[in-house]
Amino acid sequence: MKLTFHGAAGEVTGSCTHVEVKDSGGKIHNILIDCGMFQGERMCGTKNMVEFGFDPKTIEAIFVTHPHADHTGRLPKIVNMGFAGPVYMTLPACALTSVVLEDARHIMEENTKRCGDPQLYTAQDVEKVATMCKGINYHQEIMMAPGIRLMFHDAGHVLGSAYISIEAEGKKIIFSGDVGNDDVPILPDTEPISRADVVVCESTYGNREHEPMAMRRQKLKETIMRTMNGKGMLLIPAFSIERTQELLYELNQILLHEVKTNTPIFLDSPMSIRATEIYRHFKQYLRFDAPIFSDPDRDFFSFPNLRETLTVDESKVINETKNPKIVIAGSGMMTGGRVMHHLTRCLPDAKSELLIIGYQARGTVGRKLYEGAKEVTIYGQKIAVKARVSAIGSFSAHGDKNKLTRWLQPENGKNPTKIFLNHGDPDAAESFATHLRHTLRTEVEVAGAGKEYGV
Ligand SMILES: [Zn+2]
Repeated sequence: MKLTFHGAAGEVTGSCTHVEVKDSGGKIHNILIDCGMFQGERMCGTKNMVEFGFDPKTIEAIFVTHPHADHTGRLPKIVNMGFAGPVYMTLPACALTSVVLEDARHIMEENTKRCGDPQLYTAQDVEKVATMCKGINYHQEIMMAPGIRLMFHDAGHVLGSAYISIEAEGKKIIFSGDVGNDDVPILPDTEPISRADVVVCESTYGNREHEPMAMRRQKLKETIMRTMNGKGMLLIPAFSIERTQELLYELNQILLHEVKTNTPIFLDSPMSIRATEIYRHFKQYLRFDAPIFSDPDRDFFSFPNLRETLTVDESKVINETKNPKIVIAGSGMMTGGRVMHHLTRCLPDAKSELLIIGYQARGTVGRKLYEGAKEVTIYGQKIAVKARVSAIGSFSAHGDKNKLTRWLQPENGKNPTKIFLNHGDPDAAESFATHLRHTLRTEVEVAGAGKEYGV
């Protein structure tokens, strides 16, 4: 087998790995694991616009680990360039991918109007992707060709997320996609690896340890109390898939059992509202042993304080609503969408607070704020940062260093002979590689962009 990393090498976005694999007759087949978008200051940065490092027409199938844009965002582009399908992913992932691609297209359209940025793809391209998506179940075997078997396993990262195993050429290789955090209240745990010769593993938080999950509700509660007492606005930029639903779940628990308040909570993100609908629809993919299912009639994603603002007119009501108020809006890395308008109101106000609950890629407004910037530029306007900026790490949908290390040790005790690390900033990936060499005593390589590796 040959692997070439066409994204998420030396960075956390743009996941796209080209796999050349031989069937039992010696014929080479070309497949892709994920076809994600590079995300940073601008969606249409040059890396998304340049040609793929391979001929899209030669790709026989794409296997998608999960619907996040950094794993799916170049699907419309590759379809446009001649890839004829199929695209395999789980059923919930198929539904969520359409929402993700359409939302990204909408943001790009806004950016085109505002700054003349080019569009990466059109609405027709998104529709075409939807027709090529083949929904499959976890553990359903896909025989690509004689001697090439693929399978999806639950990664516990977002609804319907998977890590993918390929068995061919006498070995088994696993592609982690994004590995979920521990003890997520609404998702099943990441399925353990039973056996693997080679693992391509993400390293987003390879140099970090998250605070314990129990701390996050306490911290969120304290943040809500601060907002109520200080009569400010609490702005929570949230990724529409998973982070928003976990946040709604936690807010529901807090308001139900711990804090009595009429403070309005706005879910100001059409994409989050649609994604939450998909979570409701595919309830069977959520965690069954969690207390959330003890009362089947209770919808844990909605509660009296919550107002969903789907249309622009509904969204305008938020500005007219007096503080204190809580606003959850996308995008999570503050790269576009409704959150940008709320930032211009929240950041200059010393009574208000911005709560960051997800990974912020380099170059994004979110990263600058996370690192303590005193001023940021939003749509060409300089905005002073007087609001408090805080963060809760355990809302991350990614496992930390300890979780990844545990997951990489198969249940049968035999460690992989080789591990490639991708999907991480260079310092995180390098530090995790050193840690793994020491702990697992195995060969670990940090994936290089565009580099070909034989396995
Ligand atoms: Zn992800």
